[in-house]
Amino acid sequence: ATVLVTGANGFIAAHCVAHLLQANFKVVGTVRSSAKAAAVLQMHFNHPNLRLEIVPDVTTESCFNAAVKGCDAVLHLAAPFGYAYKDFEEELLLPSINGTLAICEAASQEESVQRVVLTSSFASVYDASSGLNPEKTYTEEDWCPLTYEDGKNAAITPVAYRASKVLAEKTAWDFVEERNPKWDLVTLCPGMVFGALLPGTIESLEHLNTSNAIVWSLIDAKSVPDTKAPIWTSATALAAAHTSALVTAAASGERFLVTNGTYDFQELADIIHASSDTPVNIKMRVPKGESGRRLAESHYKVDNRKGLKALALEEPSLESTVIPLIKQLAELETIT
Ligand code: NDP
Repeated sequence: ATVLVTGANGFIAAHCVAHLLQANFKVVGTVRSSAKAAAVLQMHFNHPNLRLEIVPDVTTESCFNAAVKGCDAVLHLAAPFGYAYKDFEEELLLPSINGTLAICEAASQEESVQRVVLTSSFASVYDASSGLNPEKTYTEEDWCPLTYEDGKNAAITPVAYRASKVLAEKTAWDFVEERNPKWDLVTLCPGMVFGALLPGTIESLEHLNTSNAIVWSLIDAKSVPDTKAPIWTSATALAAAHTSALVTAAASGERFLVTNGTYDFQELADIIHASSDTPVNIKMRVPKGESGRRLAESHYKVDNRKGLKALALEEPSLESTVIPLIKQLAELETIT
C-alpha cells in the first residue's frame, strides 16, 4: 500500500516515514521546497519506496491533489508548531485549519484513499482554563474549548497554537460528518513529543523542533524551570502508533490520546544527572534543583488506555527517550 505523509521533513513525520518504509509501505512525502525534498531522500538513504512531492503552500485549494494520486491512505502532519509567531491567524490558524481541509478534499477526490490519520495533539484535548486541576483525568471525550476568535486574539502563542490544533481536528471531524467521504478518519493526540531526531532532520540547534527544545532548554538554565505542559510522548512510539492507526480496522472513526506519561523539568534534570550516558560537560550545564521533587501529584493526568489497547502503543521510559536526544544534540552543538 502507498501512504501520503505531509510535512515529511518534520521531526515526527521523519520517524513516521522511517517506520512505514521499514514496514514495507510505499511512501509519498510532501515538503515545501526542493532542498527539503533532497534532505528527506538522503535521510532515508534514497529508499526505493520513497518519493517526494513539493507542496509550497498547504492553504491553497487542490494543493495536495497531485501528491495524493494513487495513495491508499494519508498521514497529515504538516502544520506549524512553535512559540515564535506574531500573526496568529496567518501563521497558525489558517495553515493548520485550511491545510486539514485541503487534505480532506484531496483524499475525497482520489478513489484509492481509504483512511486519513490526522496528527492532532493533547492541545486539542486540554482545557487550560481549568488549571493544573489534580483531580482531573483527561480522556478522548475531552475537548479544548478555544474558538477561532480566542486563537486569533490570544495574548500568548501557546493559546493560539492550542486553538489551531483543536480547530483543525474539528475541521476534519466536521468534514467526515458533512461530506460522508469514502475514507475514514483517525485522530491521534500526543503530548510533548521527545526523542532523538532522525539524522539529517536539522542542520543546527537553531532549527530544533519545539518539543525537543523543551528538553534542551535545561542546558545552561540558571535553575530548574516550572513545567508548563507535563504530558510526554515518545517519538518512536508515536511513529509506530501512526502505522497502527493505518492498519487497525477497529481504529476507524476513533480519536486516541497517544501519551507515555507525565514528566516535569525536575525529573528531566534528575535523569540527565543520573545517567552514565550523559556527557560530563552536559551534566555540568544542567541545574540540579531539588532532586526527587515531583510535580505529578499536583497536576492533571491522562488516561491512555484506549490507545494502549487498540494501537498497541509502546511504552518506552522517559530516560531511554531523552538521553539519546541529549547526546545527539550535544554532538550537533559541537560540530555546528
Ligand atoms: P516540526 O516543526 O518538526 O515539523 C512541522 C512540519 O510541518 C514540517 O514539515 C513543516 O514544514 C510543516 N509546516 C509547518 N508550518 C507549515 C505551514 N505553515 N505550511 C505548511 N507546512 C508547514 O514539528 P513536529 O514534527 O513536532 O510536528 C508535526 C505535527 O505534529 C504537527 O501537526 C504538530 O502540531 C503535531 N504535534 C506535535 C507535537 C510535539 O510535541 N512535537 C505534539 C502534538 C502534536 P517546514 O519545515 O517547511 O516548515
